[in-house]
Amino acid sequence: MSSSNENSLSSSRIWKAMKKGMDVFKRGTRWSLGRDSNLRFWYDSWTSNGPLRSIIYGPLTREEEEIKVKDLASIDGWNWGKLSLILPPKIFLEIQAMPRSHFANEEDRIISNATANGNFNLSSAYILANGEAPQFFDGKWIWKLKVLPRIQSFIWMCFHNSIATRERLASRGLQVDTVCPMCNLHPETIIHLLRDCHVAASCWQSLGMGVLSFDFFSLDLRSWLANNCKTTSASNHLQISWIVIFAVGIWALWSHRNRVVFKNMPSSQAIHRDIIHRAVEYALVAQSTITKQPRIARNIRWERPNRGWYKLNTDGSSLGNPGMASGGGILRSESGTWVKDFTRKIGIATSFVAECGLLGMGSTCV
Ligand SMILES: [Zn+2]
Repeated sequence: MSSSNENSLSSSRIWKAMKKGMDVFKRGTRWSLGRDSNLRFWYDSWTSNGPLRSIIYGPLTREEEEIKVKDLASIDGWNWGKLSLILPPKIFLEIQAMPRSHFANEEDRIISNATANGNFNLSSAYILANGEAPQFFDGKWIWKLKVLPRIQSFIWMCFHNSIATRERLASRGLQVDTVCPMCNLHPETIIHLLRDCHVAASCWQSLGMGVLSFDFFSLDLRSWLANNCKTTSASNHLQISWIVIFAVGIWALWSHRNRVVFKNMPSSQAIHRDIIHRAVEYALVAQSTITKQPRIARNIRWERPNRGWYKLNTDGSSLGNPGMASGGGILRSESGTWVKDFTRKIGIATSFVAECGLLGMGSTCV
């Protein structure tokens, strides 16, 4: 069946919905390289930037047009000499960091472009469908915080920008006034309510600016929550950890706001005292926040490989996740004698990919 106007053709609801979502699907997926990858180097989407030809201009010979990933990649590295165009540094570093061992044992496969681990999930698809840039989010640490479960849930919702402040409600189409009910000056965003509003700001200063970082009032919401929930600092109050003060603090500010909005109660000037009181009460009940767990000394030392074997130790890191990554390794014999070592700039990669890449590099340098 053919028609000059494709949209006039009769089709099922499912097919119509699939066509509607095709653009989101294309933006949200890419190929993960497999063994002897048959993907076209320029025209298939296999980097985080989509097809390379859509972002790199310049003439290509017919031979270059048809070049495949497997023509450039080998276990020893990338053969850049076959390309006449120079790749932008960010893309070059991303490709450079793809460990060859990654695509040594499986076929090309489609993965999600909107999550850090490549697995599909509905929330990342929803963000893409709304036209927003994907945000890689790892919030598992929230569930390890030693605070009340309801505060953990509250922090989780803050991370997902889903606390029902007036600005959030308006962004979902509700007809509400977005002005902050506490100061009547600024839009009530989550970061405004919990930090920047003068009610919150004076509360945090009363709680002890001495332990706060210099960028406390300038970080974005996620960094602000993560930094304060991961710090090892003690607060000024009975050596209770700052994490407890902070977590109780944001919860108390939210509760206080709701009392003002929904119960018409007057705004309190002494929220910080209530926070200290609740934090002390929690810390006394949950002893572990005051009494540090005794440290157990454990000897960590290099152990010899079995007779006739060599041992390769590697370590790598990335500045950001993903970010510029580098690392190195050392190869030793069964007697512990140095055999070989190496250091490498890996490119732009996650710390996990960097660690895997080093293992591959180490095994090939032997
Ligand atoms: Zn305000």
